[in-house]
Amino acid sequence: MSYFDYNATAPIRPEALAAVVEAMQAVGNASSMHQPGRQAAYRVDAARRQLADLLGCSPGEIIFTSGATEANNLALRAAFTAGSPLVTSPVEHPAVLETARTLTAESPKDLVLLPVAADGLVDLDPLDQVFAARRGGVVSLMAANNETGVLANLRIAVKAAREAGALIHTDATQIIGRLPVDVTDLDVDLLSLSAHKFGGPQGIGALYVRRGAPLPHRPLLVGGGQERGWRAGTLNVAGIIGMGAAAEAAARGLGEEAERIAAMRDRLEQLVTSAIPDCRVNGRRDQRLPGVASVTFPGVPADAVLAAMPDIAASEGSACASGAPTPSHVLLAMGLSRADADSTIRFSLGYATTDAEIEHAAHAVKRAVTQVRAVLAEADAPR
Ligand code: PMP
Repeated sequence: MSYFDYNATAPIRPEALAAVVEAMQAVGNASSMHQPGRQAAYRVDAARRQLADLLGCSPGEIIFTSGATEANNLALRAAFTAGSPLVTSPVEHPAVLETARTLTAESPKDLVLLPVAADGLVDLDPLDQVFAARRGGVVSLMAANNETGVLANLRIAVKAAREAGALIHTDATQIIGRLPVDVTDLDVDLLSLSAHKFGGPQGIGALYVRRGAPLPHRPLLVGGGQERGWRAGTLNVAGIIGMGAAAEAAARGLGEEAERIAAMRDRLEQLVTSAIPDCRVNGRRDQRLPGVASVTFPGVPADAVLAAMPDIAASEGSACASGAPTPSHVLLAMGLSRADADSTIRFSLGYATTDAEIEHAAHAVKRAVTQVRAVLAEADAPR
């Protein structure tokens, strides 16, 4: 089995696995005052520092959550105030889009969706017009798209938001641990991430909140007052420690690792496009995450291709949407037809991908597409 679904979830890094197992063998609630509790709190602090080092922020700017879904919900709920614009894009993850729709259900004119170009890039030009009519509010744009890997022009969005007195949030789930990011330099107010995308455990993530960001205190979960009152509930000590270990491992040689992965992705695209000349790579190729290839095979349903190569774990659209019969909202927003969206496969690579897996996948794709085309041609042939 070759695993090509890092954007759905990455395999746990050995360092993170060891840290989780060790943490689960210890007892201690990080809020308890006795020695085991203090020991747990001490280890949580160390993990907070490891994550802060990966992000380039201070540990006090991190709120641990159950993942990026919760971080996105928390960020938008805190940042949005009815009567001010909530500006986002149609290619966001449902954890942003659905939150934005829910928050603006009673004031739909507050929701502004920016246009998206055919290459997947969100057009930021209309921001001037949006803010000329109404200042303030919040802009939420994903740093990297989970389906195409396309990277947003975040710095331009940050500048426009700052000039308009709006808050700026980014769903950075797919970029953290894959490309170097310095949140302080990026100057966003809020940033969401999830550990399992960079080799940490599932069910743990974080929201970065810039110190001094003018944010009303609106937690989603209230209770014991953990995380400075921003996220009540006993800390997921093992998850946090595992995320810290994954963050430290991901930070090591991040730039070189990104280059290695991009070279493998380019090789995969080159092999597949030369074997199947009518296929198309989606998304702006010079502004993408290193490890994503979204490829459309016109006229060949992706589910049939995936079924014909059971030893390749890739996905149809995004994992969050699979299982649902609707085509990818991201590809549709980029102007693909429904048929082309349904004929698209996302290959996502990461830290453990090997050159041999790339060769294996390219052969498997060629064989599977040829096989499905032959079956379709036979079915269409006059009898
Ligand atoms: N945002 C993006 C861009 C994602 O890719 C994902 C995971 N598919 C999420 C948010 C949600 O992360 P989680 O499921 O870990 O909460």
